[in-house]
Amino acid sequence: MTSIRLLLPLLGLALCCSAAAAGDRIKVVTTTSDLRSLVQEVGKERVEAINLAPPTQDVEAYEPRPQDAQKLRDAKLVVRIGLDYDLWFNRLLVDASPDLRRGGKGYVDASIGVPLLEIRAVSFDATPGHSHGAGNPHYWLDPANAEVITGGIMEGLIRIDPDRAQTYASNRNAFLARLKPKIEEWRRKLERFAGAPVIAYHNSWPYLARRFRLNIIDSIEPKPGIAPSPSHLAGLIKKMQERRVAIIIKQPFEPEQTPKMLAERAGALVVPLAPSVGSVPGIDDYLALIEYDVTLLAIAFEDRRRGKP
Ligand SMILES: [Zn+2]
Repeated sequence: MTSIRLLLPLLGLALCCSAAAAGDRIKVVTTTSDLRSLVQEVGKERVEAINLAPPTQDVEAYEPRPQDAQKLRDAKLVVRIGLDYDLWFNRLLVDASPDLRRGGKGYVDASIGVPLLEIRAVSFDATPGHSHGAGNPHYWLDPANAEVITGGIMEGLIRIDPDRAQTYASNRNAFLARLKPKIEEWRRKLERFAGAPVIAYHNSWPYLARRFRLNIIDSIEPKPGIAPSPSHLAGLIKKMQERRVAIIIKQPFEPEQTPKMLAERAGALVVPLAPSVGSVPGIDDYLALIEYDVTLLAIAFEDRRRGKP
């Protein structure tokens, strides 16, 4: 009897604290699946991260749903791509806690500190289509930029949860220790194809191309978000034939027909790359994403080189 009486409070205490530990995880909302994956690398079991835009569709054209505002309600940290990529997120932040808005301690713009490509003098463009006016926003596709991105995420987590600063720093270091040798391995996989001219549907790939020395000479979209005209396509076919373009990069949600037609006319291969974690089944984290794209490119270049269809 005595022993039960002694045990019960102890048992109660144990129940209370394990439940608290699970509920204690920091809720993080990211705009994209790639940022979610990188948040998980830095936060590990301390965070519960969700992304708003599904990776199977064009995130730049995403329309937030009412449940997205709901998800922000108990979030302690938000992480976004920034630039003009997830402008739709601004509408959700209007009604969110001030801590989650720009300048708040729970706000992380992952583009801060990333060396940007294609910055133009004018950042507002009134013509149709979405804009890359503030610089090309597809910067997570250079794996070297994951160092800066995870740095911003780590600082954000430390602002919210300073007692675990050491944990977040060592989680990030462990991730970078896995990332860096992979970058070298990927570079070696693609170095034989350095300078190869490539066409992309949407201009999503300049960061990946610069890292691995591919030469994206044009886009099927004449401007981000704008479908090509017949004259643009005719010009592209000519250019592809002259420059002997072997590869057309296409994202899963982009139209099938136009890249296929161009490939047939110019003797090229359509390579369906994944822009994000989860945009193709089996790509479950950030390293798997880059691994997938690099592997697919290497196979495609090799096939073209050997003259395979
Ligand atoms: Zn874009």
